[in-house]
Amino acid sequence: MINSDLRSQVATDILVIGDGLAGSAAALEAARLGARVALVSAGPASSERAQGGIAAAVLPEDSPRLHAIDTLAAGAGLCDPDAVTMLTSAGPETVHWLESLGVRFDGDAAREAAHSMARVLHLGGDQSGHTLMAFVHAAIDLEPRITRFTARLHVLLGDGVCEGAEFSGGLTVYAGATILATGGYAGLYERTTNSRLSNGKGILEAARAGAHVADLEFVQFHPTVFAGPHPFLITEALRGAGAQVVDAAGERFIDELLPRDQVAVALAKHRGPAFISATHMDPELLRVSFPNFMRNCRHAGIDPLHEPVPIMPAAHYTMGGVSTDLDGRASVPGLFAAGECARTGVHGANRLASNSLLEAATFGRRAAAAATATAPIVGSASARGHMWRRGELSLGEVRRVLDSAAGVLRSGRGLARGLRVLGSGAGSATAADAAEMASMICSAALARPLSLGAHQRLDQPAPIAV
Ligand SMILES: Cc1cc2nc3c(=O)[nH]c(=O)nc-3n(C[C@H](O)[C@H](O)[C@H](O)COP(=O)(O)OP(=O)(O)OC[C@H]3O[C@@H](n4cnc5c(N)ncnc54)[C@H](O)[C@@H]3O)c2cc1C
Repeated sequence: MINSDLRSQVATDILVIGDGLAGSAAALEAARLGARVALVSAGPASSERAQGGIAAAVLPEDSPRLHAIDTLAAGAGLCDPDAVTMLTSAGPETVHWLESLGVRFDGDAAREAAHSMARVLHLGGDQSGHTLMAFVHAAIDLEPRITRFTARLHVLLGDGVCEGAEFSGGLTVYAGATILATGGYAGLYERTTNSRLSNGKGILEAARAGAHVADLEFVQFHPTVFAGPHPFLITEALRGAGAQVVDAAGERFIDELLPRDQVAVALAKHRGPAFISATHMDPELLRVSFPNFMRNCRHAGIDPLHEPVPIMPAAHYTMGGVSTDLDGRASVPGLFAAGECARTGVHGANRLASNSLLEAATFGRRAAAAATATAPIVGSASARGHMWRRGELSLGEVRRVLDSAAGVLRSGRGLARGLRVLGSGAGSATAADAAEMASMICSAALARPLSLGAHQRLDQPAPIAV
């Protein structure tokens, strides 16, 4: 790994920005096809945090067609059927590819919420992402055609054609093709399960470079996230095993077995604090089946065997991003996108759980195959300047405005008010980027005056699609 402390210019065939599962898959595939790859990332993000696993129709009684039916149902009519067919058909082969890197999945596939069949493969119990990424990064370390850098994206290079990017530390990479794999934007919210690196910067820079972006209003909220200074995700399996959602008086106020979205909506509508209570559950079951939950609670100073745990819904996964075709091509020549930063059409208005790791690996590899076929450019493009409106907004304020305007429940009025505040000017370049990305989310949510999938408008109620 090279730290780009010194000003340096690099020319390469393929630039991959982001080394989560999508970027890593893209880098490995491009290198296998003979390309020289510069892989630049700012640190671990969502792939390392994934808990559940990866969905693929691997059992004889399952099929890509059944997997596609479940994916289309979750997407509430907004999926691109061709993209879904491609994703689910690629599932078993993608699993074999991961196994060829040394990945060994735990036992049989498990059946999880909204999947009609057992098809979610885990690794290391509820540490799937961390374990998976250790194998993938080990494979990258063995690949001499890939050079890794640690730096943050500043701006994409080129005018009408993407010719690389400029990064922090004075690093400039000129490339024949650039693959964005910078993850989603749930980390832009005040309440989030994501790393703060998942702030939509790659999507923002693609939009500034003229790329088409879409579906930014579709943000999936996880209903049970610890409401404390260091939020952590509380697995939905805990509710399945009997944990209750209660108010401050210890009274239940929702059906815990409702789907994720409906629990998030019920919590967002509830006045006053909410808790998940496992005090009535078998302590042995909690220790054996939910070690992460027990450990995280204890770190937060809470004993879940004796007291309820405060919870809140939090932004978890973002369906929108850079619009691409099935080979990851964005609307700007030379630019590709894969993984959570891309809008491939596989998720529509809502993601089927565990489809995102599959999407990252599958589309990362497809984008690499298409990118290596792009004619090389010997770049000399310079960066475009970007002006931002100076004002008072801090990064923390931007996050809070986004939570209140474009949280689980939205309204036209709240979104319009949010947009006014976000447009009032920012106190730093980082806050200005965040405000611009947050404005894009609020504008998209305002422009869709109906409730659909993960986008719930209080002023335009409709049945929740699950
Ligand atoms: C807590 C949690 C649990 C999850 N569980 C599951 C699960 O069980 N199954 C499932 O399918 N999905 C799960 N997901 C979603 C899934 O993990 C992500 O959708 C997927 O990993 C995204 O992969 P990615 O490669 O697109 O992005 P990421 O893994 O988010 O990687 C983004 C990369 O971009 C880099 N980057 C970002 N900004 C910049 C910048 N400005 N400059 C340079 N580099 C940058 C980061 O450093 C990182 O390397 C979960 C997500 C979370 C947060």
